[in-house]
Amino acid sequence: MRESAVSLLNPNMTSLHDYMSRCNAKYYSTRDAIGARGDFITAPEISQMFGEILGAWAAMRWQQMGRPAPFQLIEMGPGKGTLMADVLRVFTRVPGMIEAVHVHLVETSQSMRAAQAQKLSDISVTIEWHDTLLDIPAAPFILIANEFLDALPIRQFIYTLQGWQERGVAQTDHGHEWMTFETDASNVPTLPKYLPPPIPGNMVEDCPLVRPLVEHLAERMKQFTGTALFIDYGYARMDYGDTFQAVCKHEYADPLQRAGEQDLTAHVNFAAIEQWGRGAGMQLMGPIGQGEFLIQNGLRMRADKLLDGAKSGLEKLRIIEDAHRLTAPDEMGSLFKVICLSSPQLPEPAGFVVS
Ligand code: SAH
Repeated sequence: MRESAVSLLNPNMTSLHDYMSRCNAKYYSTRDAIGARGDFITAPEISQMFGEILGAWAAMRWQQMGRPAPFQLIEMGPGKGTLMADVLRVFTRVPGMIEAVHVHLVETSQSMRAAQAQKLSDISVTIEWHDTLLDIPAAPFILIANEFLDALPIRQFIYTLQGWQERGVAQTDHGHEWMTFETDASNVPTLPKYLPPPIPGNMVEDCPLVRPLVEHLAERMKQFTGTALFIDYGYARMDYGDTFQAVCKHEYADPLQRAGEQDLTAHVNFAAIEQWGRGAGMQLMGPIGQGEFLIQNGLRMRADKLLDGAKSGLEKLRIIEDAHRLTAPDEMGSLFKVICLSSPQLPEPAGFVVS
């Protein structure tokens, strides 16, 4: 894996990549981050509809793959295990599927692993945990990852009168402060031709783990049929900008405050995933807005079914609100995007028709 090539001589200074990496490692191992009482809420925690739609999508994909048995269901960054529980519940209704599945969870935080084990304790499937995807043996697979890529550490480059510099963080008497340091021009991501030349103050970002991840998936898919679905917030067209952000108790916060005690993320560069995925020979679908993806995969029907079974007006209102939150363009419907990377020989997956 390509690592941040920084060597900063002053021990009080570090690259943004290392700062974000260390903060998030501490954050996910020490906090109950996700949910109403945590710092942020994710789609599977909003409604069971999200995981059920993904479960039905994965079941269709399994059929398209020729129903391999056994097959791996891999989830990267499974959070509280809610998405996995909802997906597996759908699998129990598909003949032969729950018997064939072997679950692999990629999770670095021990406390998150404990929460996942608890959530999945009454489902009788084999579950294994791993620190990285590389530890999972190659086999036919379906991979899902919701709000995983946004938590991976980024590098930021800022254009100055002296050329490109890398952004870093200095520990001072007043806390953490931004700084910049010299960087080799080869570290700066290639700018798309449509962008105007940079002017001082323009920033670009790179998430160094994403390209090796995409290329690793391509290798796996050469050996065995596979499909990988990533859902996250991000952009389909690269631009200058600073998307590094902190969220604490459901509010945006200063990312240099409370190191390791708030959620640090950056928007995902879907354009780069698309480019690297195609370059590595995979079938590539999307990115498409989460709202469109969920609706094309039957969210409205699922919501109607839940509404039929709702016991009170309040419960009905809740279902309607949740469906809106997951799909409306001014909520999670368009900033959140879905991209699917697959073995090239597979038929196209459902849900990616651009309207
Ligand atoms: N997918 C979940 C949780 C998203 S939060 C949901 O939708 O609710 C991010 C998750 O990724 C957490 O479980 C966190 O512990 C995990 N994580 C963060 N960095 C990671 C890394 N480098 N490797 C593996 N897991 C990581």
